Amino acid sequence: MINFSLPASDSFAALEMAARDRILILDGAMGTMIQELNMSEEDFTAGGHIHGPGCRHHASDHPQKGNNDLLVLTQPKAVEDVQFQFARAGADILETNTFSSTTIAQADYGLEGAVHDLNVAGAQVARRAADRAQAEDGRRRFVAGAVGPTNRTASISPDVNDPGYRAVTFDDLRLAYGQQIDGLIEGGSDLILIETIFDTLNAKAAIFAALESFAKVGRRLPIMISGTITDASGRTLSGQTPTAFWHSVRHARPFTVGLNCALGADAMRPHLAELAGVAETRVCAYPNAGLPNAFGQYDEQPEDTAAKVEVFAKEGLVNVVGGCCGTTPEHIRAIADHVAAYAPRKPRMTANV
Ligand SMILES: [Zn+2]
Repeated sequence: MINFSLPASDSFAALEMAARDRILILDGAMGTMIQELNMSEEDFTAGGHIHGPGCRHHASDHPQKGNNDLLVLTQPKAVEDVQFQFARAGADILETNTFSSTTIAQADYGLEGAVHDLNVAGAQVARRAADRAQAEDGRRRFVAGAVGPTNRTASISPDVNDPGYRAVTFDDLRLAYGQQIDGLIEGGSDLILIETIFDTLNAKAAIFAALESFAKVGRRLPIMISGTITDASGRTLSGQTPTAFWHSVRHARPFTVGLNCALGADAMRPHLAELAGVAETRVCAYPNAGLPNAFGQYDEQPEDTAAKVEVFAKEGLVNVVGGCCGTTPEHIRAIADHVAAYAPRKPRMTANV
């Protein structure tokens, strides 16, 4: 099934080379930055003029405020500016604003039909930010096509009275992810980032879909895989420890495996150490700026987040670091400064994964 004989994309060698010398920097949170802009329903829909790169028109009778992914079509400049700020702050890897751009997640907004355009445009917008930053300082930036977990889990029943029920199947997810990843590649993504994984079965469907998409275009892109620990006992929502998680995804031969979001950097450290102890590839970590306060805002200051992320680097646990919810360009700048002096983790690479 997995065709590792496909030629690797040119971003593969460039990323591997960059990761050999230093800890790479991933960008911060788009959601928090968008919230600051206080956009209205009118802003979210560009006054009802939602169209994709091919001028295809999209309409929905659902309210769109809060559908952050839609902004790549309706406010592309705002999204590009945030990504450009992150690149200038030191990010090597810019995430596309496509976390929820699957038919499954967009069903909440009645915009399933816009999914292809959301992903193509999402990658194009990030590509522009990356190219602008590179033109300014000569350093290559990579576009990571961001694939979120969707709002449905394939492993766990949402109905306590019917534990066998599933709101989504592996094949539903595989098809939805495939459509998303095809668009991300078409729009110019350098790699695919499968993130905030709380259900490993969802992630396996995304990996399967990525490999199918690579076969279609005849080249292999690097894959980054990032799980999230949802409770203090150190398990994902579908009940896995970091070690079990690694063994469930290692067949994809990811460029990185890691953790993001959730409980903040302090709580992440022991789980990251466990993952770094078993993973035969590079390790990536991008925690939240602490836990949100009662108003859902993140109070942790850039220097505080950066000092905690520095501990990961000092202990030799990481190859890529960045920020998740609540992290701003200032957080990313501080993180980049704090880890610059440390060597990247030396992964044990096994040829026969
Ligand atoms: Zn997050």
